[in-house]
Amino acid sequence: MSGGSGKKTYEGQSIAVTFEAGRCQHAAECVRGLPEVFDIERRPWIQPDNAAADRTAEVVRRCPSGALRYHRVG
Ligand code: SF4
Repeated sequence: MSGGSGKKTYEGQSIAVTFEAGRCQHAAECVRGLPEVFDIERRPWIQPDNAAADRTAEVVRRCPSGALRYHRVG
């Protein structure tokens, strides 16, 4: 990912997802659960607007490491 263990925020219209690279355990729950939003082949690799905010939130909650978090915006 993009350098260091810092937290990065990916803003969508109604939800923002933050990703903390240093915590990620590569369990792939995110990319398996919602490949429209989480796709490591793409930049940015998280695109929150590609699915309904509720779906994105649900998959973020499944992240076992706490690397992914979200908050509602708008
Ligand atoms: S679900 Fe969480 S721990 Fe697993 S790959 Fe995605 S961000 Fe990393």
